Amino acid sequence: MKLNFKQRLFFYFTVIFTLSIIGVTIFERNKEKVQKTETLEGILDVYTTTISSFLSKNPTDNFSNLDSLVSLFPSELRVSIIDKEGIVNYDNTIKNINILSNHAQRPEILALKTSNKGTDIRNSASKNQAYLYYAKDNGINFIRVALPYNINTKNLLKPDNSFVYFILIIYLSVLFLINSIINKFGKSVTQLRDFAIHAKVIPSENNFSDNELDEIGKKLTENYLLLEKSKNEVNAEKEKLLQHIHNSKEGICFFTPQKEVEFYNGHFIQYLHLITDSEEGNPNVIFTDKAFEKLHLFLKNSTANFLDDKISKQGKIFHLRLVFFENKGFEIILNDITLQEKTRVLKQEMTGNIAHELRTPVTGIRGYLETILTQKLEIDKQLYFTEKAFLQTKVLSELIQDMSLIAKIEEAGYTFTMQAIHLKPFLEQIKEDYTLQFTEKRVQFTINIPEECTIKGNQNLLHSVFRNLIDNALRYAGNDTNITIYLYNQDADFCYFSFYDTGKGIEDEKHLSRIFERFYRVNEGRTRDMGGSGLGLSIVKNAIQIHGGTIYAKNRKEGGLEFLFHLKRA
Ligand code: ADP
Repeated sequence: MKLNFKQRLFFYFTVIFTLSIIGVTIFERNKEKVQKTETLEGILDVYTTTISSFLSKNPTDNFSNLDSLVSLFPSELRVSIIDKEGIVNYDNTIKNINILSNHAQRPEILALKTSNKGTDIRNSASKNQAYLYYAKDNGINFIRVALPYNINTKNLLKPDNSFVYFILIIYLSVLFLINSIINKFGKSVTQLRDFAIHAKVIPSENNFSDNELDEIGKKLTENYLLLEKSKNEVNAEKEKLLQHIHNSKEGICFFTPQKEVEFYNGHFIQYLHLITDSEEGNPNVIFTDKAFEKLHLFLKNSTANFLDDKISKQGKIFHLRLVFFENKGFEIILNDITLQEKTRVLKQEMTGNIAHELRTPVTGIRGYLETILTQKLEIDKQLYFTEKAFLQTKVLSELIQDMSLIAKIEEAGYTFTMQAIHLKPFLEQIKEDYTLQFTEKRVQFTINIPEECTIKGNQNLLHSVFRNLIDNALRYAGNDTNITIYLYNQDADFCYFSFYDTGKGIEDEKHLSRIFERFYRVNEGRTRDMGGSGLGLSIVKNAIQIHGGTIYAKNRKEGGLEFLFHLKRA
């Protein structure tokens, strides 16, 4: 049977207290017995001393006159006179003393060799009865008195029982006290234990009173509540972090110092699939797959705290980052940087293109001005070169305008405010602006759009779109051509337009998808001379995209180039 804490405590206390009480009682009873024995021995000593002094005053051989003295003593008192050889010379209770054996070896007689008195309790050999013997040496004989060790003597020697009763009452009272103290103490301990076992059931602070144990309980409760609070806060933070990691576009995986997977998100596995062809969905594949050779070498040899690497696979570029934590655990982050890389390359190309485009007009201007300055030219020649230089500055400023517009569309497209635009009057206005050019080139511009056609657009951008398309038609389709714009379809969201000229179109169709790229020209030398910046269609495409549309170019079978695009309805 398993005792609980209270029962055990009660048991231990009871055992200790009982042993102490038994010890005290035994000691006290022994002391009392010794005292009582000493008292009895004192009485017996009075008899022996009286006999001794009687014998010294009345010397005799056969102790016959001793009877008169002994008769004065209590009747049950046995008196024996034993000589130094152990022979009993007188015994008031035995008629024929000659039958008595030698008494030299009796314990009370033997004790006299070392002490001045000898005592013993035993059965008498001659009287067949228990006696309390007391012997003394008077120098000539051993004087021995004895009382029958009967109920009376026993009672006399028996310690007083009132002490035992008193001790018993104390014992029971103390046991009761121990029990109630343990009950009180045990209540606190039981509460603490219950609290420790079922830590979720938080004891109210009021359940504890004011003793030290309860103070410990209170403090434990306080600390526990504090710990719980911190734990909850840490959990909330952890939850946020995990959610962030789950929603992150980066593939993230945490590893223990022993390279065991702790946590990973979906993107990590997705990127591993792309890089390794492994379908297991196990992040550990990163430690075996060849694509991660640099990582393996790093984990083997390097003492650095982090690794940065790029991995190209399946036409994609991934950035791998490994960062060690303080406990030597680490995280691996995989990121698809294909787009960033492409943008970076594109930007690099763009810078090269811009430099190239700027160089042409600047070189021209420089050449013309140099000619004017270094050669003694007639005034009309000087004017001719100045005009040429001026035209080049126009090209330069158009290029700069186009570049800044395209940069604005790409980087801050959201800043263009949209409004409802009635497209027909809008185009009529543009047509009017071009009257001179159209007349010069004998070009017919037809607008075939219903009056009510309204789109959601930005005026400036749409202006750029149609000016660039018209400029291109004028430039590449040539004289005596037609330009038409018409609405060929509309649905709930969009209006679909066709813008075409009746020129030659683009002979080699491979160029058709590329003419929207920046600085892309079908015929590099010839079209440059025609004055375009190479950014026109790129601006058109980006502007239409900002309007939620797309644009495609195709050659018309009747001849000429056709642009199909759609714009959002207002
Ligand atoms: P550019 O400033 O050179 O005109 P664009 O981006 O406007 O640059 O046009 C790209 C190329 O597309 C032009 O160089 C030209 O070769 C071709 N192109 C554009 N519009 C037409 C058109 N209407 N007919 C034929 N070719 C065209």
